[in-house]
Amino acid sequence: MDRNSIIEILKSNNLKTTPKRIEILSIFFESNFPLCAEDIFFILNTRKCDINLATIYRILLTFSQNKIIQVSSIIGRKAYYTLTSSNHSHYFICLKCNNKSPIDTCYINQIESKLEKYNRKVISHHFEVYGICENCGGLDDEKKDN
Ligand SMILES: [Zn+2]
Ligand SMILES: [Zn+2]
Repeated sequence: MDRNSIIEILKSNNLKTTPKRIEILSIFFESNFPLCAEDIFFILNTRKCDINLATIYRILLTFSQNKIIQVSSIIGRKAYYTLTSSNHSHYFICLKCNNKSPIDTCYINQIESKLEKYNRKVISHHFEVYGICENCGGLDDEKKDN
């Protein structure tokens, strides 16, 4: 993604095109995997870009409020973000073979609208289901082990 296209994305979201925002958004376009604030801090430091973690957190929040990026996973207390893909999906993850299969429905929107009744602004959500897939025995898994 070239610099001008990045500037266009910011403009189309009515965001000011500051050099730091441009830099951080371009990192997301360069990356093939989810990034946390510390990852971005590290990358920017290697590029000799002077920025502090608090600024990165603020920019990530702005981007996610504008749905440019979304939380893809939470590991420990760190949120990992990816660019928002047009198809919002959740996954069923098999604990035996690690296969990830998409769940086509999202029921979380109902919870989100409930929370908003209490004046809680929802920015994104993360939801995954763990279990044993049909190829690994599925519902019959326990019987198989005994
Ligand atoms: Zn499996
Ligand atoms: Zn969802």
